[in-house]
Amino acid sequence: MAEELDPFKIAQEQLDEAAGIMKLDKQAHAILREPKRVLVMSIPVRMSNGRTQVFTGFRVRYNDARGPAKGGIRFHPEESLSTVKALSAWMTWKCSLADIPFGGGKGGVICDTKKMNEKDIEALSRAYVRALGTDIGPEVDIPAPDVYTNPQIMAWMLDEYINIVRKSQFGVITGKPVEVWGSAGRMDSTARGGMYVMREAAKLLRLNPKKATIAIQGFGNAGRFAYTLSKEVMGAKVVAISDSEGAVYDQAGLDMAKLDEAKKKTGSVGGYKSKSARSITNDELLELKVDILIPAAIENQVRADNADKVNCKMLLELANGPVTPEATKILFEKKILDLPDFLVNSGGVIGSHLEWVQNITGDYWDTDVFYAKLDKKITKSFNDTVATQKEFAARGEKINPRMAAYIIAVDRVAKAMKARGWY
Ligand code: NAD
Repeated sequence: MAEELDPFKIAQEQLDEAAGIMKLDKQAHAILREPKRVLVMSIPVRMSNGRTQVFTGFRVRYNDARGPAKGGIRFHPEESLSTVKALSAWMTWKCSLADIPFGGGKGGVICDTKKMNEKDIEALSRAYVRALGTDIGPEVDIPAPDVYTNPQIMAWMLDEYINIVRKSQFGVITGKPVEVWGSAGRMDSTARGGMYVMREAAKLLRLNPKKATIAIQGFGNAGRFAYTLSKEVMGAKVVAISDSEGAVYDQAGLDMAKLDEAKKKTGSVGGYKSKSARSITNDELLELKVDILIPAAIENQVRADNADKVNCKMLLELANGPVTPEATKILFEKKILDLPDFLVNSGGVIGSHLEWVQNITGDYWDTDVFYAKLDKKITKSFNDTVATQKEFAARGEKINPRMAAYIIAVDRVAKAMKARGWY
C-alpha cells in the first residue's frame, strides 16, 4: 500500500500514535483530532493591471485552550486546506512543548508570488487581512511569516489590521520589521533555536560540532540562517545546500559569497562554482554521508521510499513535516537521531512570543537578552523530550523523540481543556 502523504492525515496519525502510548482520554483525543475552526475565504483583489483576480485563502484555528492561536501565513501555489490544518495542529504541539501561552493556528493563500509584482503582493496581503477582520488579534489569533511571506508582508498586514480596529495593536502579528516593533533577534530565531538543539543533541551523540559536516535542504529564511549559524555559532562545516531549483556539494565546505553569487547569476545555489564543488540533485543531498542533515524546505522529503538511504547521525527537522511517519520508524530502527520539527524549529515561535511580550509591555530588549531567553526555553524543551524518552525506556517502552515530544505537548493541552471544562 502506498504511504499516506496527505499532511493532515499524517498529523492525525501522529496524534493517534501518541494518544495510544500515553493512554489519552478518548474525549480529549476526539477534540484534538480536528481543528476548532476552519475559514476558507474567496478574496477578490484588484491587480495592478486593472483586472480583479480571485484568490483562495485559509485560516485555521486548531486549538486555543492554552491561549490565542499562533501560526504563520504561507503564500504558495500549491497551498491546500490539508496543509494548513496539519500545520495548525503542529503549531498547537509546538507552542505547548515550548510552554508558551499560545494555541495553534495557521493560514495560507493559493498564489504564486514569483509571478506577482510588489504592488500586487501588497494588495493581496491587505485583502487577506480585510477578509479576516477581527478573526485575528493579539488576544485572538496571531499570524507570522512562513514560506514565501516575509517581514515586509507582515508590516502591510499590521497596517491593514490597525486601519480596521483603529488601535495601535502591534502584537497582532509577529516577525515584523524592527521599525514597527518587530524584535531584535526574531529574524534568525528559527535557525538559532535549531542550533541550540543541535548543540544539546551533539552532546548526547558525543559529536564535536566543530568537526561535524552538515547538509541543508532549502536556502530560505530557515535554511540560509541555518547555514550561517552552523558555521558561526557551531563552527561546523556545511558541505551541501539546495533550493527548489538545484543543489551543490563541496566537501571542502561552502562559501556564502559564492552561494549568493550563484543565486544571483543562475537563480539557484545549484549554479555554485569552485574547484571541488559539484552540482547534485535534491534527492542526492538527502542521501549524503554527513554528520547532520537539516531539511529546511517543505514537507514529505524523507519518506518510506528513501529513508533507508539517509546516511547521517542526526537529522534536524528545521522544516515542518519533512519526515513521514513511516520514515520516522525507519530512522529510529537505523539509530539515526531524528529530532522532530515542532521541537527543532520552535525557536521561531519562541521568538514570536518574545516579540509579542515586548509589544504588549512596551519594554524592548537587546539581542543578547532575546537569545538567552530563547536558549533557555528551547534547551528545556529538548531536555524534557529526552527525559520523557528515558522515563518510557525505564518502563521497557522504547519511544522515538517525536512521540516523546508529542506526549509532553498533548498532555499539557489536554490538561488545559480539562481545567476549562471542555470534557
Ligand atoms: P522560505 O520561503 O524562506 O524558503 C523556502 C526554501 O525552500 C527556498 O530556498 C526554496 O527554494 C526551498 N524549496 C522549496 N521547495 C523545495 C524543494 N522541493 N526542494 C528543495 N528546496 C525547496 O521558507 P522558510 O521560512 O525558510 O521555511 C522553510 C521551512 O521551515 C518550512 O517548512 C516552514 O514551515 C519552516 N519554518 C519556518 C519558520 C520561519 O521562521 N521562517 C519557522 C518555523 C518553521
